Amino acid sequence: MISYARKSMIFVEGLFRETAPRFAGFSSVGACMITRSPAALQRQTIASTPRHWQQQLSGAIRDPAELCQRLDLNPTWHSGAQLGHQLFEVRVPEAYLSRIQRGDPNDPLLRQVLPLSAEGDEQPGYIADPLHEAEHGPRQGLIHKYAGRVLLITSPACAVNCRYCFRRHFPYQENALSRAQWEESLGYLREDSSIQEAILSGGDPLAANDRQLAWLVERLEDIPHVKRLRIHSRLPVVIPDRVDEALLGWLKKTRLQKVMVLHINHANEIDDAVARACQRLRDAGVTLLNQSVLLRGVNDSVDALAALSERLFDASVLPYYLHVLDPVSGAAHFNVPDDEARVLVDKLRTQLSGFLMPTLVREIPGKTSKTPL
Ligand SMILES: *Cc1c(COP(=O)(O)O)cnc(C)c1O
Repeated sequence: MISYARKSMIFVEGLFRETAPRFAGFSSVGACMITRSPAALQRQTIASTPRHWQQQLSGAIRDPAELCQRLDLNPTWHSGAQLGHQLFEVRVPEAYLSRIQRGDPNDPLLRQVLPLSAEGDEQPGYIADPLHEAEHGPRQGLIHKYAGRVLLITSPACAVNCRYCFRRHFPYQENALSRAQWEESLGYLREDSSIQEAILSGGDPLAANDRQLAWLVERLEDIPHVKRLRIHSRLPVVIPDRVDEALLGWLKKTRLQKVMVLHINHANEIDDAVARACQRLRDAGVTLLNQSVLLRGVNDSVDALAALSERLFDASVLPYYLHVLDPVSGAAHFNVPDDEARVLVDKLRTQLSGFLMPTLVREIPGKTSKTPL
């Protein structure tokens, strides 16, 4: 089992595990992330800029009791929250918390972030690495499963810990790369001219700082056959202030085509701040898509899915995938059976414009693409 206490030490930035001396001036935050306490890190880097996204990230709620108290949850929820937290720690930034209805244990956003005792139940078929990703890394931090595109684990941290996360047991520590390892990953892309698209994933790639991301993107630009940069991120949703001038700066500059695949499961996640963040990304030339996970008690109704698609399009985002749950241990209580998922999606199709329909898919280990249901 992975120790998530270790994960918690490296929550602010994640692109580089260590910094070689010649990069020392380049990335002081990245350099100290293992050895300094989070509090010291916060003081050093962001004390002068209140409410900067990094401050919001490091100030996220990490205590299950505090989460329950802040949301006026009945004490019956506390012990389950403690238990689940032992398995996969709580993390909820204030900006996300503000969209959760107080006192409502069934709030669809709360259900995504509140640990439950059910996470401790063993369920047959639910395992630590449901996608067998450990088998697909030709280099550390790099997953090449599908033709033409390579997934780079860019940051080990996430802004929010989603209880159904299929990488909740992922050994991020082993996949947090040093500069030398990044060079190796870049070398892998350079040597394979069939790779047209680099996908920054994680964790959440936008948990890394903009200087590091700009560095990586410049290196990707130097590879002639790489055309597209795809970013899989939940940060613009969870902390919309992440979409700031520094981020937009390197996005606007790159020659690469830009696609961002957001992760939003419920219409309530898109408040005005999120909609504004999406608009700024669109204005920077980013194509915005969304992937959701079909989750029991969150979005397992035609009404919820229809409202999500409509609200996404209001925010200039197109629905892309609706994933069925990956069978990761601790998340079985979120599962919606395949037959029910198909019925839901068939009904949804009668409610929505065709272009607002996400594709219902499953990821099956060993397949060369996502598999439509
Ligand atoms: C999902 C996934 C992709 C992207 O697949 P698309 O169908 O192009 O969205 C790429 N690499 C890995 C390892 C993936 O899991």
